[in-house]
Amino acid sequence: MRFLLVEDEAFNIMVLEEMIKILRPDAKVTIANNGQEAYEILKNDFFNLILSDINMPVMDGYELIKKIREELKMQTPVIAVTAFAVQGDREKILMAGFSRYISKPIDMTELEKVLATSL
Ligand SMILES: [Mg+2]
Repeated sequence: MRFLLVEDEAFNIMVLEEMIKILRPDAKVTIANNGQEAYEILKNDFFNLILSDINMPVMDGYELIKKIREELKMQTPVIAVTAFAVQGDREKILMAGFSRYISKPIDMTELEKVLATSL
């Protein structure tokens, strides 16, 4: 099971990676620090699941999901991980092509639910 984690803040990477390792001990986690890095990795690699932040420098989550769906034509589940919580943002995220949405700070039970239904 291979996961791509796209996030610009070191602390969030650490927390999410730890949670993933607890919930899916066999998972291999690859880190990208922004959308551009993720895009470069995805051109040549396959992942079972992508977890992506929205607010990132260089290339944000919206631009990344557009490239994943329209350019790379990948159907991989992509979970948006973001602090945005208002209804309008949630709709915007799903309309953009993300499979699901999970809010920060990450709740492990919620993450488990999302993983269970996305893989
Ligand atoms: Mg960020």
